Amino acid sequence: MSDSATPIVDAELIVRNPASGETVGTVAVATPAQVAAAAAALRKAQPRWQSITPAGRKQWLLKLQDWVLDHAAELADSIQDESGKPRVEAEVEVAFTVDILGYYARNAAEFLADTDVRPHTPLMRVKKLTTAYVPYPVVGIITPWNFPLAMVTADVVPALAAGAAVLLKPSEVTPLTPLLLARGWAEIGAPPVFTIVSGAGDTGAAVVDNSDFVQFTGSGGTGRRIAVACAERTRPYSLEMGGKDPAIVLADADLERAVNGITFGALTNAGQLCVSVERVYVEAPVYDEFVNKLVAHVESLRLGRDDRAGTIDVGPLANDAQVAIVTRHVEEAIAKGARVLTGGKATGEGNFFEPTVLVDVDHSMSCITEETFGPTIPVIKVADENEAVRLANDSEYGLSASVWTGDKSRGQAIARRLAVGAVNINDATINLFNFALPHGGWGQSGTGYRFGGADGVRKYCRKQAITAPALPTQKKELVWYPYSLKSFGFMRNAMRATGARGRRRFGK
Ligand code: ADP
Repeated sequence: MSDSATPIVDAELIVRNPASGETVGTVAVATPAQVAAAAAALRKAQPRWQSITPAGRKQWLLKLQDWVLDHAAELADSIQDESGKPRVEAEVEVAFTVDILGYYARNAAEFLADTDVRPHTPLMRVKKLTTAYVPYPVVGIITPWNFPLAMVTADVVPALAAGAAVLLKPSEVTPLTPLLLARGWAEIGAPPVFTIVSGAGDTGAAVVDNSDFVQFTGSGGTGRRIAVACAERTRPYSLEMGGKDPAIVLADADLERAVNGITFGALTNAGQLCVSVERVYVEAPVYDEFVNKLVAHVESLRLGRDDRAGTIDVGPLANDAQVAIVTRHVEEAIAKGARVLTGGKATGEGNFFEPTVLVDVDHSMSCITEETFGPTIPVIKVADENEAVRLANDSEYGLSASVWTGDKSRGQAIARRLAVGAVNINDATINLFNFALPHGGWGQSGTGYRFGGADGVRKYCRKQAITAPALPTQKKELVWYPYSLKSFGFMRNAMRATGARGRRRFGK
C-alpha cells in the first residue's frame, strides 16, 4: 500500500468518496498531546475492564454485535461513502464484524483460562505450575484504508476480548466508519476502553509512543518505522505488511472453479486486499484454456460506481497514489514485452482501473515482484509443479497462496512447500474468514500473527508463570542458606538421575 493522498487541511482530514470524488466528511486530527491524554484515560479505565473477566466482557461484545446488526445498513453506507466499494463488499465487512465479535466473545474465556502445566521433572512435582494471561493495559492499533470496518474489528475485537484497552488510529483515508463503531460502543454504554484518535503518520507515531503493545497493518516502510520505534522503547509489536500472493493452477484442476476463484481472489475489493491473488502460475497443458476462460470471465465483470444498488462487481481504487502504482506496473510490464489481454488502463473518471489480464510476464517485472494492490491478474506458464513452487517462493513476501488441483493430497503436499503464512486449496482469501486459524505473514509480509484462535487474544497478554507448593512445605528447602555441598549433592544426584541418560545418570 502507498502513502495516503488524502489532504490534511488545518488539522482536519477531508474524506472523499474515490468513486465520485465528492467530500463525504471531515474529521479533526488528534495532536500528540491529545493522543497521550487519550492513552492516560484508557490506562485508568483498563483495570476495571480486566477485572470483569472474559464473561463480563462477553456481554459487552455481544451487545456491540447487536448494535452492529441493528445498524448494518448505516455501517455499510458509511463504508461505501469513504471507500466507493460495491455494496456487497461493504456488507461483507459488516458480516465479518458480526462473526468475529461472536467468535471472540464466546471463546475468549477458554482462550484466556489459566493453563496448568506438568512439571518437566519428577523433582518439581512438589509444585503446582500455572501460566496466566494478563492483558497489556493499552494496545495501540493502527489500520489501513482497504477495509474501513473489517480491518479495524479484526484487531479491536480480540484486543478488547483479552481485557486490554484499545487506542485505535484508523487510516486517515477512511476514518468515518471506525468513528461510527466507536459511537456504537458508547451507545451501548460500554466502559470507556475503546478510543479513536484520527490523523495521519504523526498521530500514528503518538499512538506507538503511548501504547504497551502495537498492532499495525499497512505498508512495509511504515511497518519498519514502527518496529524501530517499538524496539527503542522495548515494546512488543505485531506487523502485517502486505503480500504478493501466488496462485498455482495444476493441469488436474477444475479449471472453471480455478478461473472463477482466481478472478474473485484477484479482483475483490479491486485487488486492494492483503491476501489478493497477485500472480498466477499455470501448468502448460491447461495454460491456453485457463487464459481464454479467465479473459472471458474478467470481461463479464461490471466496473463502476455502485452506490447502494449492489449491481457492481469491481469498484474504484482508494486514491490517486494507488492508480499511479497499478498504471506503472502495467506500463513497465508492457515495456518489457508483456501483453494485455483485457483492461490495462485507468478509466479516467473516479479512481477506476480496468480489470486487467497480463500474459508474457516474468520475474523481472514490477507487476510480479512488487505488491500491486490493484485489479491486475498477471499469468505465467510453467512446465510443472516444481517450477510453479519455485517461482511462487521467489518473492520477498509470504502472506498467503492458493493451489488449484483435483488431487487433495497433492494440494496438501504443495501447501507445505510454500513459504507463506496461509494456503487455500481450491479457494482464495477464505483463510481470512476462518478465525480458528492463525492469520499472519512470513518474510516481508510481517511479523507476529494478527488474529485467529487462542493466540489471537493471548498475543494481547503478557504470560505470567506462577509456581505454588503442591504439598505441605518445610521450614526451608535443601538449596537455601546455609550452603552445604551435602544438601546440594543430594539435589544434583536427583537431577542427574532424572535428566541424564545411561551410566551418567548415576555418575559422580
Ligand atoms: P496505507 O496508506 O497504504 O494504508 P501506510 O503504511 O502509509 O499504508 O499507512 C497505514 C497506517 O499507518 C495508516 O493508519 C497511517 O496513518 C499509519 N501511519 C503512517 N505513518 C506512520 C508512522 N510513522 N507511525 C505510525 N503510524 C503511521
